[in-house]
Amino acid sequence: MCAAQLDIFAGGSRRLQMTESIELTIQSLQAYGPDHDHWGVAWSGGKDSSATLTLLVYLIEAGKIPRPKTFSVFYADTRQELPPLAAAAGQIIDDLATRSIDVHIVRAPLDKRFMVYILGRGVPPPNNNTLRWCTRQIKIDPMEEALRRRLDRLPGGILMITGVRQGESAIRDRRIEMSCGKDGAECGQGWYQQVLPNARGLRGRIATLAPLLHWRVCHVWEWLKHWAPAAEFGDWSTTAIADAYGGAEAEEINARTGCVGCPLAEKEKALETILLNPRWSYLAPLKGLKPLWRELREPRHRLRKPGVERLKDGSIAKNPQRMGPLTFEARLMALDRVLTIQGDCNEVARREGRPLVDLINAEEEARICALIAAETWPQGWDGDEPTADTPLDAVFRDGTVQPRLIVE
Ligand code: SF4
Repeated sequence: MCAAQLDIFAGGSRRLQMTESIELTIQSLQAYGPDHDHWGVAWSGGKDSSATLTLLVYLIEAGKIPRPKTFSVFYADTRQELPPLAAAAGQIIDDLATRSIDVHIVRAPLDKRFMVYILGRGVPPPNNNTLRWCTRQIKIDPMEEALRRRLDRLPGGILMITGVRQGESAIRDRRIEMSCGKDGAECGQGWYQQVLPNARGLRGRIATLAPLLHWRVCHVWEWLKHWAPAAEFGDWSTTAIADAYGGAEAEEINARTGCVGCPLAEKEKALETILLNPRWSYLAPLKGLKPLWRELREPRHRLRKPGVERLKDGSIAKNPQRMGPLTFEARLMALDRVLTIQGDCNEVARREGRPLVDLINAEEEARICALIAAETWPQGWDGDEPTADTPLDAVFRDGTVQPRLIVE
């Protein structure tokens, strides 16, 4: 195990491991990089893609890998980042600007953003089973769009460099995780790796490379915490990112990188780790987000299709009596809760001069309220369906109905 090795052997061995990891990275970039004039990095501010980005810039500047004709950074800003990571990303963007590196801020359109989509349009929070809409909507689609715009101005294609990192076992298995729940992976990176090259209109114009594929999480931490911030490696503002993932305990904690309060993660390891640091303890109210998303999926907060649902072609929907969108009351309740969480964090932040939390900004709040006021429902729902906790006759897939045995 990486951590055990670090304990047993002193700094010399650690340095050797890092040097070997970096050497393999250099070899992969030297092998594939020169085939492409234009490079881009899909960066989401998490540990893996931040390590990839900062290492890449260092290697280019140090002349250890060939410099591409153009180099663009695509920062996937979901508006759901953990505050220390969002703050670090801001500093890295400034660092990139001083190097005249092109940074594209990639964000979903207002109505597609996580909070607006749930609280304004009424789509239930995503889950691991039937409804994982978030990664595509807030990460992949906006990235596709940004790449389309970039490619419009480029001859040929682009080499997109991602932070996919699988560690040794996964490399043996030859699998790239699409989900972000395993091996402390970073949400979205596997999708960038696999989905973007096949996107409509982009096929054949995007190649992908994951030069940190073989890195263990402790190497990522070592780079972010000790190497990248050193002047000789670029003086990067990456220490806060390393700390968010548990520092020397990073491998044991194995925190995945993704949105604060991610409804798909079993535990909020990164947030829990951050809260152990007194400087970030004012973010404790953020722990209220995950239970809120879970609560919103309960039947009392949602509508349900009451009977046989006919599709446009006249066939019967496969999942009769499915649960659907959030009621207006639920959306308003949740909006109030999120704004309270944000307000509680920011009261302390202002008092102590700490970074503010920005879960819902004024524009997003206004849009959520406007969508509710306009009585907006997701496609296929018109709002006169009963709430999902209303007792109903059972409807089966073949359209037969079994009346309730007990009618109040
Ligand atoms: S981190 Fe969670 S909420 Fe955010 S896009 Fe990924 S799966 Fe969805």
